[in-house]
Amino acid sequence: MGILVVGSVALDTVRTPAGYAEEVLGGTAVYASVAASYFADVSVVAVVGDDFPEGHVAFLQRKGIDTSGLWRQPGRTFRWKGEYTGDLNVARTLDTQLNVFQDFNPRLSSEHSRSRYLFLGNIDPDLQRGVLEQMQRPEIVACDTMNYWIDNKLEALKRTLSLVDIVLINDAETRHLAAEQNLFAAARRILSWGPRVIVVKRGEYGAVMIGPKEVFVVPAYPLEEVVDPTGAGDSFAGGFMGYLAAKGESDDAALRQALVFGSVMGSFNVAEFGPRRLGSLTFPEILERFHEFKQMTDFSDV
Ligand code: AMP
Repeated sequence: MGILVVGSVALDTVRTPAGYAEEVLGGTAVYASVAASYFADVSVVAVVGDDFPEGHVAFLQRKGIDTSGLWRQPGRTFRWKGEYTGDLNVARTLDTQLNVFQDFNPRLSSEHSRSRYLFLGNIDPDLQRGVLEQMQRPEIVACDTMNYWIDNKLEALKRTLSLVDIVLINDAETRHLAAEQNLFAAARRILSWGPRVIVVKRGEYGAVMIGPKEVFVVPAYPLEEVVDPTGAGDSFAGGFMGYLAAKGESDDAALRQALVFGSVMGSFNVAEFGPRRLGSLTFPEILERFHEFKQMTDFSDV
Protein backbone atom coordinates (compact mmCIF):
# COMPACT_ATOMS: atom_id res chain seq x y z
CA MET A 1 0.00 0.00 0.00
CA GLY A 2 1.24 3.46 -0.86
CA ILE A 3 2.83 6.03 1.42
CA LEU A 4 2.82 9.71 0.72
CA VAL A 5 5.77 11.60 2.20
CA VAL A 6 5.64 15.38 2.42
CA GLY A 7 8.59 17.43 3.66
CA SER A 8 11.83 19.13 2.72
CA VAL A 9 14.26 18.16 -0.02
CA ALA A 10 17.56 19.85 0.66
CA LEU A 11 21.20 20.28 -0.12
CA ASP A 12 22.92 19.79 3.23
CA THR A 13 26.37 20.85 4.34
CA VAL A 14 27.38 18.95 7.44
CA ARG A 15 30.39 18.78 9.72
CA THR A 16 30.72 15.93 12.20
CA PRO A 17 33.68 14.58 14.18
CA ALA A 18 34.11 12.06 11.34
CA GLY A 19 34.39 14.61 8.52
CA TYR A 20 32.72 17.18 6.32
CA ALA A 21 30.27 16.95 3.43
CA GLU A 22 29.18 19.83 1.24
CA GLU A 23 25.82 20.17 -0.49
CA VAL A 24 24.86 16.53 -0.27
CA LEU A 25 21.32 15.34 -0.87
CA GLY A 26 19.22 15.71 2.27
CA GLY A 27 15.91 16.89 3.64
CA THR A 28 13.30 15.20 5.76
CA ALA A 29 11.32 13.89 2.78
CA VAL A 30 14.41 12.31 1.21
CA TYR A 31 15.45 10.31 4.26
CA ALA A 32 11.89 9.24 5.05
CA SER A 33 11.09 8.22 1.46
CA VAL A 34 14.30 6.31 0.86
CA ALA A 35 13.87 4.39 4.14
CA ALA A 36 10.20 3.64 3.40
CA SER A 37 10.97 2.54 -0.17
CA TYR A 38 12.32 -0.83 1.07
CA PHE A 39 8.86 -1.71 2.38
CA ALA A 40 6.17 -0.05 0.26
CA ASP A 41 5.38 2.16 -2.74
CA VAL A 42 6.38 5.70 -1.90
CA SER A 43 5.45 9.06 -3.44
CA VAL A 44 7.23 12.20 -2.41
CA VAL A 45 5.72 15.69 -2.40
CA ALA A 46 8.27 18.49 -2.02
CA VAL A 47 9.81 21.43 -3.83
CA VAL A 48 13.28 21.95 -5.29
CA GLY A 49 14.90 24.80 -7.18
CA ASP A 50 16.20 24.83 -10.73
CA ASP A 51 19.71 24.16 -9.37
CA PHE A 52 18.74 20.74 -7.98
CA PRO A 53 20.89 18.07 -9.65
CA GLU A 54 19.00 15.68 -11.93
CA GLY A 55 21.22 12.92 -10.54
CA HIS A 56 19.47 13.24 -7.17
CA VAL A 57 16.06 12.85 -8.81
CA ALA A 58 17.40 9.80 -10.65
CA PHE A 59 18.65 8.38 -7.31
CA LEU A 60 15.14 8.66 -5.80
CA GLN A 61 13.62 7.12 -8.92
CA ARG A 62 16.08 4.22 -8.79
CA LYS A 63 14.71 3.54 -5.31
CA GLY A 64 11.30 3.20 -6.98
CA ILE A 65 10.06 6.48 -5.47
CA ASP A 66 7.37 8.33 -7.42
CA THR A 67 8.76 11.85 -7.94
CA SER A 68 5.77 13.27 -9.85
CA GLY A 69 5.05 15.44 -6.78
CA LEU A 70 8.59 16.84 -6.64
CA TRP A 71 7.99 20.35 -7.90
CA ARG A 72 10.81 22.24 -9.57
CA GLN A 73 10.46 25.99 -9.06
CA PRO A 74 12.61 28.83 -10.38
CA GLY A 75 15.16 29.70 -7.70
CA ARG A 76 17.51 27.89 -5.37
CA THR A 77 16.88 24.65 -3.49
CA PHE A 78 16.47 24.73 0.31
CA ARG A 79 19.87 24.55 2.01
CA TRP A 80 20.70 23.53 5.55
CA LYS A 81 24.10 23.72 7.19
CA GLY A 82 24.76 22.06 10.53
CA GLU A 83 27.38 20.56 12.74
CA TYR A 84 27.65 17.95 15.44
CA THR A 85 30.35 18.23 18.06
CA GLY A 86 30.54 16.18 21.26
CA ASP A 87 26.92 15.08 21.50
CA LEU A 88 25.91 13.42 18.26
CA ASN A 89 22.26 13.57 19.30
CA VAL A 90 22.18 17.33 18.92
CA ALA A 91 22.66 19.12 15.60
CA ARG A 92 23.68 22.74 15.76
CA THR A 93 22.15 24.65 12.87
CA LEU A 94 24.70 27.03 11.35
CA ASP A 95 22.60 28.27 8.45
CA THR A 96 19.14 27.72 6.97
CA GLN A 97 18.32 29.09 3.53
CA LEU A 98 14.68 28.38 2.79
CA ASN A 99 14.85 29.57 -0.84
CA VAL A 100 12.03 27.91 -2.85
CA PHE A 101 10.89 26.07 0.30
CA GLN A 102 9.66 29.40 1.67
CA ASP A 103 6.63 29.36 -0.65
CA PHE A 104 6.01 25.61 -0.44
CA ASN A 105 2.26 25.01 -0.45
CA PRO A 106 1.67 21.38 -1.35
CA ARG A 107 -1.22 20.65 -3.74
CA LEU A 108 -1.88 16.94 -4.01
CA SER A 109 -2.79 15.18 -7.26
CA SER A 110 -5.94 13.08 -7.00
CA GLU A 111 -3.79 9.95 -7.00
CA HIS A 112 -1.64 11.23 -4.13
CA SER A 113 -4.73 12.28 -2.17
CA ARG A 114 -5.87 8.65 -2.21
CA SER A 115 -2.70 7.34 -0.47
CA ARG A 116 -3.51 5.20 2.54
CA TYR A 117 -0.45 6.21 4.58
CA LEU A 118 0.78 9.74 5.06
CA PHE A 119 3.98 10.94 6.69
CA LEU A 120 4.09 14.67 7.29
CA GLY A 121 7.73 15.63 7.72
CA ASN A 122 8.75 18.67 9.68
CA ILE A 123 7.10 21.63 7.89
CA ASP A 124 4.81 24.47 8.99
CA PRO A 125 1.93 22.85 10.95
CA ASP A 126 -0.61 24.84 8.92
CA LEU A 127 0.81 23.29 5.74
CA GLN A 128 0.75 19.85 7.38
CA ARG A 129 -2.93 20.35 8.10
CA GLY A 130 -3.49 21.68 4.57
CA VAL A 131 -2.11 18.40 3.20
CA LEU A 132 -4.19 16.36 5.59
CA GLU A 133 -7.36 18.17 4.50
CA GLN A 134 -6.67 17.19 0.88
CA MET A 135 -6.41 13.49 1.71
CA GLN A 136 -9.44 11.34 0.96
CA ARG A 137 -9.36 8.55 3.51
CA PRO A 138 -5.90 7.91 4.89
CA GLU A 139 -5.57 4.92 7.18
CA ILE A 140 -2.60 6.18 9.19
CA VAL A 141 -1.25 9.70 9.39
CA ALA A 142 2.03 10.36 11.19
CA CYS A 143 3.84 13.62 11.67
CA ASP A 144 7.07 15.12 12.93
CA THR A 145 7.80 18.67 14.01
CA MET A 146 10.64 20.74 15.46
CA ASN A 147 11.35 23.35 18.14
CA TYR A 148 10.87 26.24 15.73
CA TRP A 149 7.15 25.40 15.29
CA ILE A 150 6.69 24.68 19.00
CA ASP A 151 8.03 28.17 19.74
CA ASN A 152 6.31 30.03 16.94
CA LYS A 153 3.09 28.20 16.05
CA LEU A 154 2.04 26.19 19.06
CA GLU A 155 -1.72 26.53 18.58
CA ALA A 156 -1.52 25.58 14.89
CA LEU A 157 0.68 22.64 15.83
CA LYS A 158 -1.80 21.45 18.45
CA ARG A 159 -4.60 21.60 15.86
CA THR A 160 -2.51 19.45 13.51
CA LEU A 161 -1.64 17.00 16.27
CA SER A 162 -5.32 16.60 17.12
CA LEU A 163 -5.84 15.17 13.61
CA VAL A 164 -2.96 12.69 13.33
CA ASP A 165 -2.64 9.11 14.55
CA ILE A 166 1.05 9.01 15.36
CA VAL A 167 3.49 11.72 16.42
CA LEU A 168 7.18 10.97 15.92
CA ILE A 169 9.40 13.48 17.69
CA ASN A 170 12.64 13.53 19.64
CA ASP A 171 12.82 13.60 23.42
CA ALA A 172 13.81 17.26 23.80
CA GLU A 173 10.91 18.25 21.53
CA THR A 174 8.51 16.07 23.50
CA ARG A 175 9.40 17.84 26.75
CA HIS A 176 9.36 21.25 25.11
CA LEU A 177 6.04 20.69 23.35
CA ALA A 178 4.30 19.53 26.53
CA ALA A 179 6.14 22.03 28.76
CA GLU A 180 6.86 19.09 31.05
CA GLN A 181 10.27 17.70 32.05
CA ASN A 182 9.22 14.12 32.72
CA LEU A 183 9.16 12.30 29.39
CA PHE A 184 6.22 10.03 30.18
CA ALA A 185 4.11 12.80 31.68
CA ALA A 186 4.98 14.91 28.63
CA ALA A 187 3.92 12.14 26.26
CA ARG A 188 0.66 11.65 28.18
CA ARG A 189 -0.14 15.34 27.83
CA ILE A 190 0.49 15.24 24.07
CA LEU A 191 -1.70 12.13 23.77
CA SER A 192 -4.51 14.03 25.49
CA TRP A 193 -4.54 16.41 22.50
CA GLY A 194 -5.62 13.62 20.13
CA PRO A 195 -2.94 11.35 18.68
CA ARG A 196 -3.22 7.63 19.32
CA VAL A 197 0.48 6.96 19.79
CA ILE A 198 3.60 8.99 20.38
CA VAL A 199 7.00 7.73 19.30
CA VAL A 200 9.86 9.46 21.07
CA LYS A 201 13.16 9.20 19.19
CA ARG A 202 16.11 9.30 21.55
CA GLY A 203 19.11 9.07 19.22
CA GLU A 204 21.82 6.82 20.63
CA TYR A 205 19.45 5.85 23.47
CA GLY A 206 16.86 4.27 21.18
CA ALA A 207 13.16 4.99 21.03
CA VAL A 208 10.08 4.77 23.24
CA MET A 209 6.53 4.31 22.04
CA ILE A 210 3.78 5.48 24.34
CA GLY A 211 0.13 4.67 23.72
CA PRO A 212 -2.96 4.99 25.87
CA LYS A 213 -2.26 1.72 27.67
CA GLU A 214 1.26 0.62 26.99
CA VAL A 215 4.85 1.66 26.75
CA PHE A 216 7.31 -0.13 24.45
CA VAL A 217 11.03 0.54 24.39
CA VAL A 218 13.81 -0.33 21.92
CA PRO A 219 17.48 0.45 22.35
CA ALA A 220 19.56 1.95 19.58
CA TYR A 221 21.71 -0.48 17.61
CA PRO A 222 25.16 -0.49 19.27
CA LEU A 223 27.30 1.26 16.68
CA GLU A 224 30.96 1.96 17.34
CA GLU A 225 31.20 4.53 14.59
CA VAL A 226 28.67 7.20 13.66
CA VAL A 227 29.70 9.22 10.63
CA ASP A 228 26.70 11.53 10.25
CA PRO A 229 23.51 11.48 12.37
CA THR A 230 21.65 13.78 9.94
CA GLY A 231 18.39 12.23 8.83
CA ALA A 232 18.40 9.41 11.40
CA GLY A 233 15.05 10.57 12.77
CA ASP A 234 13.46 10.74 9.33
CA SER A 235 14.95 7.39 8.29
CA PHE A 236 13.43 6.03 11.48
CA ALA A 237 10.04 7.50 10.53
CA GLY A 238 10.32 6.10 6.99
CA GLY A 239 11.12 2.60 8.25
CA PHE A 240 8.33 2.80 10.83
CA MET A 241 5.67 3.94 8.35
CA GLY A 242 7.01 1.69 5.59
CA TYR A 243 6.61 -1.36 7.76
CA LEU A 244 3.06 -0.41 8.84
CA ALA A 245 2.09 0.09 5.20
CA ALA A 246 3.61 -3.24 4.17
CA LYS A 247 1.88 -5.04 7.02
CA GLY A 248 -1.45 -3.29 6.41
CA GLU A 249 -2.21 -3.36 10.13
CA SER A 250 -1.53 -1.07 13.05
CA ASP A 251 -2.33 -3.21 16.08
CA ASP A 252 0.07 -3.25 19.04
CA ALA A 253 2.22 -6.05 17.59
CA ALA A 254 2.59 -4.25 14.25
CA LEU A 255 3.45 -0.99 15.99
CA ARG A 256 6.14 -2.72 18.07
CA GLN A 257 7.67 -4.33 14.98
CA ALA A 258 7.50 -1.00 13.18
CA LEU A 259 9.44 0.61 16.02
CA VAL A 260 12.23 -1.91 15.54
CA PHE A 261 12.28 -1.44 11.75
CA GLY A 262 12.46 2.29 12.36
CA SER A 263 15.48 1.77 14.61
CA VAL A 264 17.09 -0.48 12.00
CA MET A 265 16.76 2.14 9.26
CA GLY A 266 18.00 4.97 11.50
CA SER A 267 21.04 2.91 12.48
CA PHE A 268 22.04 2.21 8.88
CA ASN A 269 21.62 5.81 7.86
CA VAL A 270 24.25 7.20 10.22
CA ALA A 271 27.03 5.10 8.69
CA GLU A 272 27.75 7.61 5.89
CA PHE A 273 27.10 11.24 4.96
CA GLY A 274 23.78 11.90 3.22
CA PRO A 275 21.46 9.01 2.34
CA ARG A 276 24.23 7.04 0.62
CA ARG A 277 24.24 4.05 2.96
CA LEU A 278 20.49 4.17 3.37
CA GLY A 279 20.15 4.03 -0.40
CA SER A 280 22.43 1.05 -0.93
CA LEU A 281 20.81 -1.45 1.46
CA THR A 282 19.43 -4.84 0.58
CA PHE A 283 16.34 -6.25 2.24
CA PRO A 284 18.27 -9.23 3.70
CA GLU A 285 20.60 -6.74 5.46
CA ILE A 286 17.58 -5.00 6.95
CA LEU A 287 16.09 -8.29 8.13
CA GLU A 288 19.39 -9.44 9.59
CA ARG A 289 19.64 -6.31 11.70
CA PHE A 290 15.99 -6.68 12.74
CA HIS A 291 16.85 -10.16 14.08
CA GLU A 292 19.93 -8.80 15.84
CA PHE A 293 17.62 -6.38 17.64
CA LYS A 294 15.47 -9.29 18.69
CA GLN A 295 18.45 -11.19 20.06
CA MET A 296 19.79 -8.12 21.78
CA THR A 297 16.57 -7.53 23.70
CA ASP A 298 15.19 -11.02 24.21
CA PHE A 299 15.05 -12.35 27.75
CA SER A 300 13.02 -15.04 29.41
CA ASP A 301 10.55 -14.80 32.16
CA VAL A 302 11.70 -15.95 35.60
P1 AMP B 1 16.78 14.81 11.15
O1 AMP B 1 18.26 14.70 11.38
O2 AMP B 1 16.14 13.48 10.85
O3 AMP B 1 16.05 15.54 12.22
O4 AMP B 1 16.55 15.71 9.82
C1 AMP B 1 17.62 16.26 9.11
C2 AMP B 1 17.12 16.94 7.86
O5 AMP B 1 16.24 18.00 8.19
C3 AMP B 1 18.26 17.56 7.06
O6 AMP B 1 18.51 16.79 5.92
C4 AMP B 1 17.80 18.98 6.74
O7 AMP B 1 17.88 19.27 5.37
C5 AMP B 1 16.36 19.02 7.20
N1 AMP B 1 16.01 20.31 7.84
C6 AMP B 1 16.77 21.06 8.67
N2 AMP B 1 16.09 22.18 9.04
C7 AMP B 1 14.87 22.12 8.45
C8 AMP B 1 13.72 22.99 8.43
N3 AMP B 1 13.70 24.15 9.10
N4 AMP B 1 12.65 22.59 7.72
C9 AMP B 1 12.67 21.44 7.03
N5 AMP B 1 13.72 20.60 6.99
C10 AMP B 1 14.81 20.92 7.68
